[in-house]
Amino acid sequence: MVRRSQLLNPPFPASPPRTAATPLQGSCPRAGWLGGHVAHYMEHEAPYGELELTCPDGQIAHTLDWQSERPVLLLRHLQRLTAPNPGLMTGPGTNSYLVGDALMGHIVIDPGPNDPAHLERLWRAAGGDIRHIVCTHSHPDHAPGAQPLQQLCARAGQTPPAILGLPSAPTARAHSQFQPERSLHDGERLILKDAASGLQHTLHVLFTPGHAANHVCLVLQEDGLLFSGDHILNGSTTVIDPPDGNMDAYLQSLDRLAQACAAHDIRFILPAHGYVLGDAAAAVARLKQHRLQREAKVAAAMQALPGGSHDDWVKLAYADVPARLWPVAKRSLLAHVERIDQSGGVPRMNKV
Ligand SMILES: [Zn+2]
Repeated sequence: MVRRSQLLNPPFPASPPRTAATPLQGSCPRAGWLGGHVAHYMEHEAPYGELELTCPDGQIAHTLDWQSERPVLLLRHLQRLTAPNPGLMTGPGTNSYLVGDALMGHIVIDPGPNDPAHLERLWRAAGGDIRHIVCTHSHPDHAPGAQPLQQLCARAGQTPPAILGLPSAPTARAHSQFQPERSLHDGERLILKDAASGLQHTLHVLFTPGHAANHVCLVLQEDGLLFSGDHILNGSTTVIDPPDGNMDAYLQSLDRLAQACAAHDIRFILPAHGYVLGDAAAAVARLKQHRLQREAKVAAAMQALPGGSHDDWVKLAYADVPARLWPVAKRSLLAHVERIDQSGGVPRMNKV
């Protein structure tokens, strides 16, 4: 669970213990600021988890408007700066995260695109003290900012932070080539420490191929937070684009994340696109169910039109999705078709 000392808004004093006469509440709406007004959200709505993380006792203190000008403080040692690259594939933009503080320096997760103004803001938000730059994967909205950010640090006279991640696989598209200075190891821990206060932040590396062959997630152990890159998003579904994307690997990685949620008591997920997600284990389970349901629809389309093309199948399997998204959906459909073909033509509902 999140360390209480790291919360932005002081928790209320403990309430008296519940008695048999105390009614159970079925739902607990939360509120934040949006467009200058107070907006209320229920558990199933996108901003709910972010409000729960920043204002656990229901204070109305967090602003939800997306902007790229200023970092958003999520915890005392956790900032998010969103790159100015909103779009169909990037939602409100790429979230760059900064873990750490002025005493122990910072780790950047996903510097984002090579946007000089964004990188300058990121560098300033870190007070110029960046120890590591981690790229969750090599896609163009995540990794190209790494080298220019490193150069920014070097120009300011600091020890240039190492660029960490996994090299792109031969299957990566031309715009997604990436070579870290050092490859991360699965299970490796990146540690920030302040000897005086005894405070430590530990990022535990998890290899999670699927969205991209070189995708990694990171767990902030002391607070039970998962940085999910593009493996899990809030407000949209990640695209699996073969051959670098692979649906079977994606689902296996999802199982890995489900195990990590239990092992590390993970409560919140911080995606590369969208608000913080709460109830992490449930979000992972929901996503797996969604993928398997989609796979069943793809298999049904293949059975209904055995000689059909991918264009024919996408109309049936993604009938619930706006037609403008079908060209993108077709990539994930292809990933499902590959997986169905590998399993002999039937969706592996019970084997995953
Ligand atoms: Zn992305």
